[in-house]
Amino acid sequence: MGQLDGKTAIITGASSGIGRETALLFAEHGAKLVLVARRHDELERLANRIRDNGGQAVAVAGSVADAVVASEAVQVATHQFGGLDIAFNNAGTTGAQVPLPEMTAENWHEVIETNLTSAFHAAKQQIPALLARGGGSLIFTSTFVGHTVGFPGMAAYAASKAGLIGLMQVIAAEYGQRGIRANALLPGGTDTPMGRAVSNTPEALAFVQGLHALKRLAKPREIAQSALYLASGMSSFTTGTALLVDGGVSITRT
Ligand code: NAP
Repeated sequence: MGQLDGKTAIITGASSGIGRETALLFAEHGAKLVLVARRHDELERLANRIRDNGGQAVAVAGSVADAVVASEAVQVATHQFGGLDIAFNNAGTTGAQVPLPEMTAENWHEVIETNLTSAFHAAKQQIPALLARGGGSLIFTSTFVGHTVGFPGMAAYAASKAGLIGLMQVIAAEYGQRGIRANALLPGGTDTPMGRAVSNTPEALAFVQGLHALKRLAKPREIAQSALYLASGMSSFTTGTALLVDGGVSITRT
């Protein structure tokens, strides 16, 4: 029996990396999925793979910074699958990595829109749908950057991801008594296109691996398993938390 049998989940950033792996894992556990990202072809390929394996998945292509896309995802969950139980609001971008005085306002706004305002648009649409089901689980992908570690060159990214934790805490407090749990998932360095872009030389990769107590990056599946925990009844008393799944990067000084 799957942990998510009979549940419907929205997953953003499903075209790649952590989101894609989480979609495959949630489908293995019986969830019906609404897959969101900008790259339509990647989403369709993933949806087809899930359907070929006997699952159910629908793609909604567009930017998470667009409130219309957030609304469309909830509409699809409601009309095609009968309601919404889980949302993994995971899409994200690092933006340009430059010292703050060199950061353009355009870059700042793009990162905040993609990583933080997107979560506002998403939650605004998702909360009423979850309430209609008597509750559910909201998960926001944050990061250790801006929470336990200040990483040079990542001002917009850190600010947007720290903002997600504040947003999540308010949702958890506002809607706990009505059955909605809200949590943030804070991965460490993870072997995805984003992770590889940050560690783009052998020296940079060795440096980033060395920052972690486990001396390696996470596999996307390891982060997906934590998303499954937060999505499922296994975490029924967990809400308002910033869950570090960071290989010890936050406590390592060697
Ligand atoms: P990834 O493989 O590059 O995936 C990023 C995903 O976000 C893609 O599916 C991308 O899809 C989507 N996305 C980006 N901008 C979007 C937009 N405007 N609208 C819709 N979708 C958008 O990176 P990842 O490592 O899996 O990242 C997933 C999340 O984990 C991010 O929030 C990231 O900040 C966080 N994280 C990653 C690491 C790491 O080391 N990799 C560590 C901590 C936290 P499209 O390009 O198709 O739109």
